[in-house]
Amino acid sequence: MIEDKLIGRSLDLIRQCYQDISLYAPDRAPCAIDLSDNTNRYGIPPTAEKTLREVAVDAVTRYPALYAGELKAALADYAGVQPSQVVTGCGSDDVLDSAIRAFAEPGDTIAYPDPSFAMMPLFAKMNGLKGVSVGLARDLDFDFKGLLETGAKIIYLCSPNNPTGGVAVRGGIEWIIERAPGVVILDEAYAEFCDQNYLQVAAKHARLLVVRTMSKAFGLAGLRVGYAVGNEALVAAVEKSRGPYKISGAAERVAVAALRHDMGWVKEKIADVKTNRERLIRELKAMRLDPQPSGANFVLVSVPKSATELGKAMRQRGVAVRPFPGLRIFGESLRISLGPWEQVQAALDALKAVLA
Ligand code: PMP
Repeated sequence: MIEDKLIGRSLDLIRQCYQDISLYAPDRAPCAIDLSDNTNRYGIPPTAEKTLREVAVDAVTRYPALYAGELKAALADYAGVQPSQVVTGCGSDDVLDSAIRAFAEPGDTIAYPDPSFAMMPLFAKMNGLKGVSVGLARDLDFDFKGLLETGAKIIYLCSPNNPTGGVAVRGGIEWIIERAPGVVILDEAYAEFCDQNYLQVAAKHARLLVVRTMSKAFGLAGLRVGYAVGNEALVAAVEKSRGPYKISGAAERVAVAALRHDMGWVKEKIADVKTNRERLIRELKAMRLDPQPSGANFVLVSVPKSATELGKAMRQRGVAVRPFPGLRIFGESLRISLGPWEQVQAALDALKAVLA
């Protein structure tokens, strides 16, 4: 049959650098309490929800704005920068991917810490780049010197870092952006949950791009709204690489509503996350475990048994957390997202039961 012959050949047609890419596959099976993906467990902000329910038909039947101008203006006000210093994307995943394409050629190197955001090695491969991972320093901060010594065209940093929760030491980012040969991408997906950010620095610096998301503090993960702040030239390049029409009309309207009217709600939930974070860390220590200090809406804790098995057993008890088997430096570990205390308590109860 003619079809069979063609199918047999199709692997040869695929880009070489795609041959060993596996699909991103965390366990996303529904679970009664899901503390596995660091999304906002308090729900959707009130004006955002109202706006979503009222989205006009023309936001669906017509194409959205080319480059999400209204959203850029609202984000610029939120970030304290100019709209020309903001670029949006379909989640910060899309912004990171577009930035890599904008600042590196296939064959170039991108350096990132390990452990850090699991998608970075994948984005590197998707764009034909050589990914180089650099372990954390002995004090568990980034090895800024090691990252610089790779000579990479792009250096990726994530602060607070996923999955460790660690916040980059003050001065470290300043040190590396003064010395890096190419662009430094600083992923601040969780910056709302700590007291440090580089938005203002990025707007004025030659080589720093800060990437952000509305998936975490703003509770809009399903709408896929991400953005970056940087100087006009860097931002314009990411916008070209990203392409038009990436933010859907509905997503833009809801995100703008949240930024303009829901800051009270967002700040209240951030404060609750911070309170629950310290309480969770205390409780884990009381269980003789060793949780990492965190500036994010999650806590990483090393565990004395297989993280995968513990994660499965916790799921059977109705609580999903994210297992990290054999994490560099930390070994078998679980990452527990924060939310309302009842949910965190349920995770603690499940963890106690499965460790017993
Ligand atoms: N960066 C980091 C560090 C993340 O943890 C995540 C989500 N897990 C993202 C980026 C991507 O988020 P989104 O695409 O939803 O904006």
